[in-house]
Amino acid sequence: MSEVVILGAGLGGTLMAYEMRAKARQEDRITLISASAVYQFYPSNPWVAVGWRRRREIEVDLTSVMERKKIRFVTESARRVHPAENQVELQSGERVGYDYLIIATGPELAFDEIPGLGPAGYTQSICETGDAELAYGAFERFCDNPGPVVIGAAQGASCFGPAYELAFILDSELKKRKLRHKVPMVFVTPEPYVGHLGLDGVGDTKGLLEAELRDRYIKWITNVRVKEVSDGRMVVEELNEDASLKAAHDLPFAFSMIMPPFRGVKAVFGIEGLTNTRGFILADEYQRNPTYQNIFSIGVCVAIPPVGQTPVPVGVPKTGFMIESMVTATAHNLGALLRGGEVSQRPTWNAVCLADFGDGGVAFVAQPELPPRDMNWAMQGKWVHYAKIGFEKYFLRKIKAGESESPYEHYLLKALGIHKLKGEE
Ligand code: FAD
Repeated sequence: MSEVVILGAGLGGTLMAYEMRAKARQEDRITLISASAVYQFYPSNPWVAVGWRRRREIEVDLTSVMERKKIRFVTESARRVHPAENQVELQSGERVGYDYLIIATGPELAFDEIPGLGPAGYTQSICETGDAELAYGAFERFCDNPGPVVIGAAQGASCFGPAYELAFILDSELKKRKLRHKVPMVFVTPEPYVGHLGLDGVGDTKGLLEAELRDRYIKWITNVRVKEVSDGRMVVEELNEDASLKAAHDLPFAFSMIMPPFRGVKAVFGIEGLTNTRGFILADEYQRNPTYQNIFSIGVCVAIPPVGQTPVPVGVPKTGFMIESMVTATAHNLGALLRGGEVSQRPTWNAVCLADFGDGGVAFVAQPELPPRDMNWAMQGKWVHYAKIGFEKYFLRKIKAGESESPYEHYLLKALGIHKLKGEE
C-alpha cells in the first residue's frame, strides 16, 4: 500500500485526484489536501465581474464527491512541504506523510511586486472568484459614475486571455447599459504585440485581437511595464525593442483590472532542488522533479521557461487543456511506479482555448503549445460565446460527477486530432 498525496484542489488537483483514483491500486491511499473544500471554475470569473454569473453558480463543494470516490480530503492549507522527509506540514502543525506527492498549488498572485496593484491597492482582480465578486461591486459603483477604464496585464504576467476577455465583456456590458460612450478604454500589456499571449501568437491571434480592439475603440499599449498605481491613476512605461524607454504614460481610471505576475506559493518557495527562483516547481518531461523523484507537479505551479526574449518579461500561460495533459501523463506514470514499473508517458502540453468576448469570441488550438507547431489555428465567431457557456456547464458537471474526461469528450478530441499524451498523435 502506498500513500499518494495531492496538494491543491483547483483545476489540476481535482482532476488529478479522479484520475489517480482510477490509476492507483485499490489498496493505495489517495489524499487530497487543499486550502478550501470548494472548487471554483476560474474561466467564468470575467462573467462574475460584470454580474453575468453569481459566485455560487460556478463553485462546487468537493466534500461529498471525494467521499464517494474514497479520496481522503483534508481541507487545510499546507504551511510547508518537507521533501527530504516525505512530509507535508499543515497550518495546524500536523504532518501528512507520503510515498508520492503531486503538487498542484497554482500560483501565488504577486500584486506586492508593483506598488498599488491589486485588491489591497487600487485595481481589481479576477484571478480568484471572491475577488471577481468584489470587482463586480466596484463595477456597479463605476456604472453610477462612469469614467476611463484600464485593463491589461503587468510585467511578468503569464495569463493574458482573461484580460482580453474582460476588456471585451466590459465593452459588451457597457453597450447594453448605454454607457459605453462615456468610457474611454485602454488595454496595457507587456506582450510585444497584441495577441502574443505568451505563446508568440496562435494562428492569427495578432490580427484577430487587434481588429477586435480597434472595432470596439479600445486603445492599446504593448511592451508595457506598470510602475505604480494610486487612487485613479496608473503610471506605466512603454519600452522600445531594445528595452530602452519609449514613453511614460499617466493613465487615469475609474475602473481597472490588471493581471498580476505569478510566483510559486509559500509552502514550496525557495526549496533547493524543488523550485526555481520564482518558486515554480522544476519538472522533467514526465512531470517528475529531477531532485526529488517521488514528487510530480501539474498546472500553473510548474516551471516553464518563456517562449523567447521580449523587452518586458512575458510568461508562458498554463491553460486548462495543457494542465489536463499533465494530469493524464502523471496518472499513467504514477500508476506504473506503484506497480513497480517506470515512467513513460509525456504530456503534449497542447493549448486548446475558448476566449469569450461577451457577444462572440476566439477559439484557438496550439499543438504543441510553443512554436513551431504542427497545428496552429485561431477562429472567430459568435459560436465561441455559446461554446464557452456549454463548456462551463459540461466542466462543472464533470467535477460534480467525479469524472476527469467523459467518453464523448475523449472521442471528440480524438476526432479533432487533439491528444493529451505524446505518441498518441
Ligand atoms: P488552481 O486552479 O489555481 O488551483 C490551485 C489550488 O491549490 C487552489 O485550490 C488553492 O487553494 C490550492 N492551494 C494553493 N496553495 C495551497 C497550500 N499551501 N495548501 C493547500 N492548498 C493550496 N485556462 C483555459 O484553458 N481556459 C480559460 O478560459 C481560462 N480562464 C482563466 C481565467 C482566469 C481568471 C484565470 C486566473 C485562469 C484561467 N485559465 C484558463 C488558466 C488555468 O486554466 C487556470 O488558472 C487553472 O485554474 C489553473 O489550475 P491549477 O490547478 O494549476 O491551479
